[in-house]
Amino acid sequence: VSSSRLAQILPGPSEIRLTVLDHGTMQMDARRLAARPECFQRVAHREPQDLWQHFPVISVLVRHPEGTFLLDTGCYSGWKDTWSESGIGDVIEYETRESALLGPALAAEGVRPTHIDAVVLSHLHMDHAGGLEVFSGTGVPILVQEREYEHLIRVQGSRTGAYIRREIDGLDLAWSLCSGDFPLAAGVQVVTLPGHSPGTQGVVIAREGRQTVIFASDAIQVAANVQDGVFHHSANPYDSVAWRLTARELMDAQEEGALVVMGHEPSQSAELEALT
Ligand SMILES: [Zn+2]
Repeated sequence: VSSSRLAQILPGPSEIRLTVLDHGTMQMDARRLAARPECFQRVAHREPQDLWQHFPVISVLVRHPEGTFLLDTGCYSGWKDTWSESGIGDVIEYETRESALLGPALAAEGVRPTHIDAVVLSHLHMDHAGGLEVFSGTGVPILVQEREYEHLIRVQGSRTGAYIRREIDGLDLAWSLCSGDFPLAAGVQVVTLPGHSPGTQGVVIAREGRQTVIFASDAIQVAANVQDGVFHHSANPYDSVAWRLTARELMDAQEEGALVVMGHEPSQSAELEALT
């Protein structure tokens, strides 16, 4: 498979502005995001290791001459209740400020939800889709892969892990179900990156005269997933084979010069600030 699908997008205007919004951090055992067999305790080595770490929750605002787009939405304002109800609160702690939730974070950028022309959701896990509440009743199109949406609808019961329907079900959203890759605007391409979840997708931004940026979301969650050419998926990917193929494709694109922005890598924050 040629990586040109990701790295060779026709560039759009150089004045496309990228702003990464910081919605706080999640804390969890790092092995949930990058399964590292060598860290698992053994009969002969039962020392617990301190792998409790912080991982940023982000979304990306794309201000383009053709329109304003948002990739992902961060977490739900009522996360304290919904996370404990879903069971995800047992394994992930979330730390944020009121002002870091999507609504206030957009307002701080001078953007109202109704100014957004389309929201691209990488997938429907709670740390990416939780902020959808902000778009209820606005008519703003919510672009998600059909496979991902169908998976959400199939998820039932109260212990749903990272899919929390209670945060989404009551909302009046203009869902726009997509299938495969498609262009959003000049130099902005939505690309499928399956594996982490059934319909994970990302966004490639190609700007005239600048480095191509691939927002991969959780297709690669942290740098440890792809360290030294060895691929370690998270503890619980939807499809580990698809995940590996996607990660390989992203790493090939990186070798061709693209910057791959991962879903939750703490060390990338400085790089993200320089993107604008
Ligand atoms: Zn995530």
